[in-house]
Amino acid sequence: MALERTFSIVKPDAVAKNLIGAIYQRFEAAGLRIVASKMLHLSKEQAEGFYAEHKERPFFGALVAFMTSGPVMVQVLEGEDAVRKNREIMGATNPKDALAGTLRADYADSIDENAVHGSDAAESAAREIAYFFTDAEVCSRTR
Ligand code: GDP
Ligand code: MG
Repeated sequence: MALERTFSIVKPDAVAKNLIGAIYQRFEAAGLRIVASKMLHLSKEQAEGFYAEHKERPFFGALVAFMTSGPVMVQVLEGEDAVRKNREIMGATNPKDALAGTLRADYADSIDENAVHGSDAAESAAREIAYFFTDAEVCSRTR
């Protein structure tokens, strides 16, 4: 299994609840390395562009309003099987369906305010990383 990168967001609800460190701890405990990270307050345009695949969905307006409601942490995670591993750590989109011990089971309040984002495939990971980070901002950690 090759080293892989995925894109992750600590969403505004989790930042507001002071859970950045607790969430980063879960990534690191699972063997994922944080190779880029920054705090941002997304503009409406940035949030709409990021979630463009959902623009026809009924919840799109609510999703954009939530994602711009406060600061987020955006990060790139690197490790073996990083895309799948991060989705496993996150749990299901709806916290009611998320397995015990996952981030969404432990920290999310609802399907709209669900604590974290994670890329769903290698292709979306590459697109999402490039949406927020330049190549020079991502520091591969091989030592
Ligand atoms: P994810 O990949 O698990 O984050 O889920 P999706 O890509 O399907 O949806 C993106 C985000 O839109 C989710 O994380 C939720 O914040 C939100 N979302 C998805 N489905 C619904 C829904 O049925 N209702 C509401 N209000 N929000 C949703
Ligand atoms: Mg998704």
